[in-house]
Amino acid sequence: MDTMKLNTIKLTNPYLALPDLCYDRVKPTPLKKPFLIHANAEVAKMLNLDEASLESDAFVQFMNGNLQLEGSESFSMCYAGHQFGFYVPRLGDGRAINIGTINNLHLQLKGAGKTLYSRSGDGRAVLRSSIREYLMSEAMHGLGIETTRALGIIGSEQEVIREQWEKASIVLRLSPSWIRFGTFEYFSHTKNLKELEALADYAIAESYPHLLDENDRYLYFFMEIMGKTARLMAEWQAVGFNHGVMNTDNMSIAGLTIDYGPYAFLDDYNTNYICNHTDKNGRYSFGNQPRIGEWNLRALMVALAPLISTEKMESVIKHYGRLYSRHFLYLMGEKLGLDEVEDSDFEHFKEMFGMLQKLRVDYTLFFRTLSHYNSDRTALLKLGLYHQPMNDWLDNYDQHLNRNRSTTQERQERMLKTNPKYVLKNYMLQEAITIAEQGDYSLVESLFNIAQDPYAEHKEFEHWAGATPDIFKNKKLSCSS
Ligand code: AMP
Ligand code: MG
Repeated sequence: MDTMKLNTIKLTNPYLALPDLCYDRVKPTPLKKPFLIHANAEVAKMLNLDEASLESDAFVQFMNGNLQLEGSESFSMCYAGHQFGFYVPRLGDGRAINIGTINNLHLQLKGAGKTLYSRSGDGRAVLRSSIREYLMSEAMHGLGIETTRALGIIGSEQEVIREQWEKASIVLRLSPSWIRFGTFEYFSHTKNLKELEALADYAIAESYPHLLDENDRYLYFFMEIMGKTARLMAEWQAVGFNHGVMNTDNMSIAGLTIDYGPYAFLDDYNTNYICNHTDKNGRYSFGNQPRIGEWNLRALMVALAPLISTEKMESVIKHYGRLYSRHFLYLMGEKLGLDEVEDSDFEHFKEMFGMLQKLRVDYTLFFRTLSHYNSDRTALLKLGLYHQPMNDWLDNYDQHLNRNRSTTQERQERMLKTNPKYVLKNYMLQEAITIAEQGDYSLVESLFNIAQDPYAEHKEFEHWAGATPDIFKNKKLSCSS
């Protein structure tokens, strides 16, 4: 389709067809003195928006909630959720305002002011957290993992208080679905069963339309969500991503990565790593993520119980572990360049993870270095504190490689497309944020370019391709954003 100028774009609002309890109509509260920080040309194309529009003043006004496009109606969505295992009866979009839908993508301004669901919050997002969300959603996409996306980010002169005064900002983010496990929990726990059913039908039409005519569609719906969640967890584990706040209100029924907060990529491999400073008990530690995925699905099961027999859902969820393992096995086989994998390879992987943890090897760098491996072990041995465990594991790996039919060159090429050279580690984001807070957005641009193609060499950014510098390793981030 041809691209269009911003002011000719028309939006629809399918979510507003749901019962009134599902949302609250609210207008964005624009920020003072807004300016564009970055816009995403690729996402603009997904909305049929011409690239020239991204440079216009109208675009900034649009991002700031000041310019309403034709058909746009604004509202926030109501949901609940289990936060750190405890049920919170009402959450909702406390700072995200939906402004309409185009090409089945629902646009949201995050940080656009207070809503009915703001509780004690100010409805704002600080520059730091907006940059993190903007860049990381692009990075996830670049890594081939399903995620919400973002069209752009604006800054402003307006200040908001967190641990200190910080500048407020807005990200325009978009998703094929903003429905969370917690959205179902809200209507189920408040016994609004009419809304619960309407929401289920809506969510099926939105994310799983092939199920619409099935008699058992609610059960299949749950099955799909389970499958998508198992896959997403395997993808996070394979790439070394720690989400940090896997509350049920941050779990997408479409299986996307949503709500980027105090997330992190692993530095040295450490299954016990906890990126979220608030998470004292490590509920959302890296190694726990797959299990929490299941815990969250069980919370969703409780919410869906009025629509589906629990017995039937039990017969579905009992396959979660196996599904997760199957995805993980496949992804690890890809990362290691193995033509074929079988269940017995889990032992080999376990040995590898044990070795990486013991030798404190940078997770991303390990797989990238391994992607160049032939028979010379020098580069790999240099990655660890000492040599023996790596040598032992490589002996085993060599035997696995001997089973391959593909040539070494073919394997290396494949691995270089599977194992990123760059992931956006927190210290890199912090470098970009520190100068952005002084008005220099050049590193936001650099990280954005890396995020879009993390497998490319990007010689000019080689300094970010190594192990995380010691002083920045294994840090935790605060939730305040
Ligand atoms: P999160 O941990 O970012 O997923 O947010 C959890 C809940 O708190 C959601 O309902 C958010 O909308 C809400 N929230 C977070 N920050 C703010 C804020 N600054 N103002 C209002 N609500 C907020
Ligand atoms: Mg959230």
